[in-house]
Amino acid sequence: MSKRNHNAVRTCLGCAERDLKRAMVRVALVGGVATVDAAQRHAGRGGYLHRSLPCLERFERHRLKPFRSLKSPVGMAERRRITETIKAGWLGTVRGDKIIVNGA
Ligand SMILES: [Zn+2]
Repeated sequence: MSKRNHNAVRTCLGCAERDLKRAMVRVALVGGVATVDAAQRHAGRGGYLHRSLPCLERFERHRLKPFRSLKSPVGMAERRRITETIKAGWLGTVRGDKIIVNGA
């Protein structure tokens, strides 16, 4: 059998729907700075986002408010940096507002 938390469910910071944790990317507060936690190994406060463009965009456009799971407000610029990092790791390299897909 696989790990016990294999089917753990989390709420997406973008669409606010619950889904399997492994279908999402973790965002953690590291030293007070929101960071993409690709390896999901940072302790402490974290939130999750679907690997989907609409969810990343919704997360960016949210009004400034404390995210319940992060227990801290995350500024627009900081959120943008997070989504760009996710997009870069997932689709390729982000240059300006363009995503250069790996291998293209
Ligand atoms: Zn979502």
